[in-house]
Amino acid sequence: MSSPRKVDLIIVGAGQSGLATAYFLKRLGIETLLLDGQESSGGAWLKAWDSLKLFSPAQWSSLPGWGLTSNNIYPTKSELIAYLQAYEARYDFEIIRPARVISVEQRDGLFEVQTCDRQVFQCRALVSATGTWGNPFIPQYANSALYEGQQIHSAYYRTPAAFTGKKVLIVGGGNSAAQILAEISYVAQTTWVTLTPPTFLPDDVDGRVLFERATLRWKAQSEGRAVTDLPGGFGDVVMIDSVKDARVRGVLQAREAFVEFSKRGVVWQDGQEQLFDAVVWCTGFQADSAHVNRLNIRDEEGHIDTTGTRSNRIPGLWFVGYGDWCGFASATLIGVQRHAKSTALEIAGYLAH
Ligand code: FAD
Repeated sequence: MSSPRKVDLIIVGAGQSGLATAYFLKRLGIETLLLDGQESSGGAWLKAWDSLKLFSPAQWSSLPGWGLTSNNIYPTKSELIAYLQAYEARYDFEIIRPARVISVEQRDGLFEVQTCDRQVFQCRALVSATGTWGNPFIPQYANSALYEGQQIHSAYYRTPAAFTGKKVLIVGGGNSAAQILAEISYVAQTTWVTLTPPTFLPDDVDGRVLFERATLRWKAQSEGRAVTDLPGGFGDVVMIDSVKDARVRGVLQAREAFVEFSKRGVVWQDGQEQLFDAVVWCTGFQADSAHVNRLNIRDEEGHIDTTGTRSNRIPGLWFVGYGDWCGFASATLIGVQRHAKSTALEIAGYLAH
């Protein structure tokens, strides 16, 4: 094992959240080392399905300091990957890739960080910005071990080709499910299952409007005012063109959850069995936090315990970008900015002592 390199600050993960935080730290004159598990720039966007487009226009899909430009109203996955790559180069961040962090421990008042290729680093402060895409969530259903058909989570879905001519069950009520359903339904017979009836936004409401509404709601809440009359949340389905087209074709119909799996399909609440060749789980993600699991970071209920992004249990540790629990709308490009900024200011204060 090589001897540890010592730095003030390490950010684990160089996706949009890690980069936004590094940007504000650089403005404060704090040098940062980013360790990223992937071979190339782009964070989770490298893993998204081929046809994925953002649900907000470019100016609402940018990191601090330098805007994304796009040839489309809604930027494509490859435009965003190119943007993140150019962003890193523009601000000349020090990023080591691939450097997957497998453990973070505390030793002699420092964090000791080890990567899977046995590089070791020590730092005074650490930001975890590893996102959620590496930790897909699949809900428990009775008899799931019985089912012999194909199963895939949206995290691993790329194109509809593998489903051609099949009977496919799509599970989940959000944007991933609606977008994947829209394209698989061109080549396969699809059935869509949601726990509650899906909420479709009006055709003229996109991620930008959602963000504005959610900001108003958040402001009202934080000022102790009643939250009224502000419909729309990030889980609601945005009617991008492919989803509108699915509606026109009559395939955007959801039904209630099934009761259990059978060997070749599922059993509905009325006892009827229906056969499916494949199930696509569009059921979301949880924080990819395995690297910090040896630290005492969780409360009694098992949640990572923070105020804003700052760990309540470990001094010098921050969590950026995972979702509302570490900052309202922090899992979006535009939303992570304010949390990245406040995190950088807190880190500056911490390192100054
Ligand atoms: P990531 O992008 O996942 O980056 C984390 C990085 O850390 C990755 O490179 C990962 O490999 C690395 N990493 C993980 N573990 C380790 C480790 N142990 N050691 C080292 N590196 C590690 N957001 C928007 O703003 N607009 C949209 O239109 C939008 N559309 C979306 C559509 C879908 C279907 C989905 C699922 C998400 C969408 N999002 C959108 C949200 C957005 O994709 C993610 O929330 C975002 O990628 C999170 O950024 P991040 O930097 O926190 O994590």
